[in-house]
Amino acid sequence: MIKGGLVATESDLFRADVVIENERVVALTSDASDVDADEVIDANDHLVVPGGIDAHTHFTEPDPKEIEGFYCGSMGAVAGGITTVVEMPQATPNSSEAEHIVEKIRLGEERSLVDFALWGAAINQDLESIEEMIDAGIVAVKAFMASSDPKFQRITDASMYDVFALLADTDIPFGIHAENNDLLQDGIQTLQELGENDPLAHADSRPPIVEAEAINRVVFFAEETGGRAYICHTSTISGLEIVRNAKERGVRIEAETCPQYLALDTDDLVRLGPYGRCAPAIRDREEVEGLWTYLQDGTMDTIASDHCGYTIEEKEPGKENIWNAPLGLSGIQTMLPAMLDEFLNKRDLDPSDFVRMTSTNPAKIFGSYPRKGTLRPGSDADIAIYDLNAPWTVRGTDMLHKNKWTPFEGKQINVRVVRTMVRGTTMYEFNGEHVVRGEAGHGRFINREYGEGA
Ligand SMILES: [Zn+2]
Repeated sequence: MIKGGLVATESDLFRADVVIENERVVALTSDASDVDADEVIDANDHLVVPGGIDAHTHFTEPDPKEIEGFYCGSMGAVAGGITTVVEMPQATPNSSEAEHIVEKIRLGEERSLVDFALWGAAINQDLESIEEMIDAGIVAVKAFMASSDPKFQRITDASMYDVFALLADTDIPFGIHAENNDLLQDGIQTLQELGENDPLAHADSRPPIVEAEAINRVVFFAEETGGRAYICHTSTISGLEIVRNAKERGVRIEAETCPQYLALDTDDLVRLGPYGRCAPAIRDREEVEGLWTYLQDGTMDTIASDHCGYTIEEKEPGKENIWNAPLGLSGIQTMLPAMLDEFLNKRDLDPSDFVRMTSTNPAKIFGSYPRKGTLRPGSDADIAIYDLNAPWTVRGTDMLHKNKWTPFEGKQINVRVVRTMVRGTTMYEFNGEHVVRGEAGHGRFINREYGEGA
């Protein structure tokens, strides 16, 4: 039993005791003192929310280089209040065939501390293999319009159209990394020819139109085919304006963003250098502020980490020359505390807004609601408990994922995860130090039917 906490769901905020039995929430009640609980967790003065569902996580399993993986990655997840990840298909090999999905499920069930669902890759392969991955249990399909990695081919327009058409009579989201490849290649070449190697050259090489044009194309394909589009990591006012208009017309589209686009700006990119290089690029302050209006008006649906476990050795060469840094940021442990702090203390939003963006909406989009994404009788007891008055300074050395760096280095965050439970089992606790209690293999694979089991 979790006693005395302030409970936030996607729609309500109330004081309640949460009673948990056999991995599920069985009751939310104003006073559960008469319940004979095996364990009582005191949550007085703390916020109790459904665990975060990170819709965009790169644990890159399997990976012979073992840069992250389910085990270390999910240590960062539980320390950051996340109880489910939707894992991206970049791996060795990439997850583009059913057999890769079967193998990844095996690895996740052996190694993960958190529950996990899987993306399958669309990299111009035949449509049959996408159907087979769906049968194997993927919850979404992912493609890149611009390649950020030579091992993961960008999708052609023809193939993107075909995949949208294939998925049109399903609810399976087609997640797109939306950047115009020609524009960004040209941008990089132009700046390199000018000898621009500093961090800002990275942002200058892929201005907002690079994203906006690609989003516009995705909207058109989704609208023509009736397929469901999910725009990964949106970062621009112009791109979100297109999404907003599409939603108003009834196009099936959802938009994700990430903490690096809501809380960091180009001053941080200058400060971070290679540790701030990601795609799309971190934007200037005007774009960042503009993004919040699309978050508040419902254009934006989810906040995800886009956690990438690059090593310090891989990132460091970007200090001399920004083009030598790989694209991607670590973020799974900092995302939710940074965002909750931003919502409550800087943006005057309320805890339910936070729950909707980080748990309920991803659960709905990826098929696990209401078993996940909320707290009600029948839901999995996936719970994060926050101390709302616990300032700390972010340090890379504090990270539990494998590579000890963070783009939030040195930032103060005023809230802290004090406990994370996955299906009723405490996986993480903070008692002045990080304590990971749960065992590898606790994590369960979830498919699109999982939500029906509430
Ligand atoms: Zn990503």
